[in-house]
Amino acid sequence: MKRIVILGAGESGAGAAVLAKKEGFDVFVSDMSAIKDKYKKLLDDHGIQWEEGRHTEEKIVNADEIIKSPGIPNDAPMVRKCADKGIHIISEIEFAGRYTRSKMICITGSNGKTTTTSLIYHIFKSAGYDVGLAGNIGNSLALQVAEDPHEYYVIELSSFQLDNMYDFRANIAILLNITPDHLDRYDNCMQNYVDAKMRILQNQTRDDSFIYWNDDPIIRRELNKYDIKAIQYPFSELKEVGSIGYIEEGQYKIEKPTPFNMEQEELSLTGKHNIYNSLAAGIASNVAGIKKEFIRKSLSDFPGVEHRLEKVTKVAGVQYVNDSKATNVDACWYALESMKTPVILILGGKDKGNDYNAIKDLVKEKCAGLVYLGADNTKLHNFFDGMGIPVRDTHSMKDCVAACYEMARPGDTVLLSPCCASFDLFKNMEDRGEQFKTLVRKL
Ligand code: ADP
Repeated sequence: MKRIVILGAGESGAGAAVLAKKEGFDVFVSDMSAIKDKYKKLLDDHGIQWEEGRHTEEKIVNADEIIKSPGIPNDAPMVRKCADKGIHIISEIEFAGRYTRSKMICITGSNGKTTTTSLIYHIFKSAGYDVGLAGNIGNSLALQVAEDPHEYYVIELSSFQLDNMYDFRANIAILLNITPDHLDRYDNCMQNYVDAKMRILQNQTRDDSFIYWNDDPIIRRELNKYDIKAIQYPFSELKEVGSIGYIEEGQYKIEKPTPFNMEQEELSLTGKHNIYNSLAAGIASNVAGIKKEFIRKSLSDFPGVEHRLEKVTKVAGVQYVNDSKATNVDACWYALESMKTPVILILGGKDKGNDYNAIKDLVKEKCAGLVYLGADNTKLHNFFDGMGIPVRDTHSMKDCVAACYEMARPGDTVLLSPCCASFDLFKNMEDRGEQFKTLVRKL
């Protein structure tokens, strides 16, 4: 019997274990940290062996294949050991793809993945399609394939998942953008990260579709290197040579496969970045044959995604916006760009090698105040102090929200779009966003 070892027992690892067991493999799950109770129960219910708090080498290196969770870096010692022994290491999505013939709609990019994935899911669901949501967004594809199969899957793919994908084929692939992110996991080499993103194209055939943002210089450069077989659907903000989706004279337009248009004003998501996300989602739905009235309705009634430019409430004439998910400079750029009022911007956290020059001009133009929120705000002080914008230094969400309240004038927007990861002061970006919302609602 072939032995499959799964490294990491979170959502994807536990799901992969259930599918592997169902397919008749000898399955073992190993996690260096504590496994959540719900996943222990899932594994126990299926009679799957597991260990936590360690990786027992002799139980791992005898595997025929390893399924690695995306959170575990390729240079983790046990992963290295397995690779050195020539054991094939794959991701949960790759594994699940072997056991389903469902249609796969896959979304990757540096920013906008969750928004676009959720929006596509919303459109498909509203149109009555049998669709599952999977990947980085939090639901295991493998578990659904094993227990609750769907005709279509909308799958958010991170570069880490793509790294360990080889034969998987996306029927509809979407590449939103490529900007520097996670370089610490790619030997600080941008090209390695770019190559990972481009893997979304591998295995596509002439029957498939490739949707991408035509304004992105990195994507355009990279496409010259590939022999793309899929039908291409480039989109851009404005009508451009080659683009089949764009905004023209206040109209959101898609030229093919079925001509479609609606008022830009009717789109529920605001901000330039969301024009791109809405175009990508509209084209994917159009390609899948969803009727125009469903696409139009869903693009205009989509409620948005928590922690992404999420309007919290208005206090004393000040709008508070939670964009805790903006964990890199590019995401913050788009958030700021979409603001129509003076902004009190909350910045800071765990910096992944940020270059703040990219937002310097927008900060000057839009910000009436800056509130730094981090364990160590030195880098922010060094960069932004002295630009003539009032700044405040805080180290807890409580102090931060109080500082914003004092600084903001009626008509302003307080924007949490911190450019940084949250792990210095919070459990994760959701925790940061929740704390912000709770305190704002108490003002
Ligand atoms: P991801 O899942 O790729 O991290 P999200 O949809 O969660 O992306 O959005 C993260 C942040 O990135 C948002 O808060 C927003 O400010 C920004 N963003 C969203 N879509 C785009 C886009 N198409 N281009 C650039 N930035 C974007």
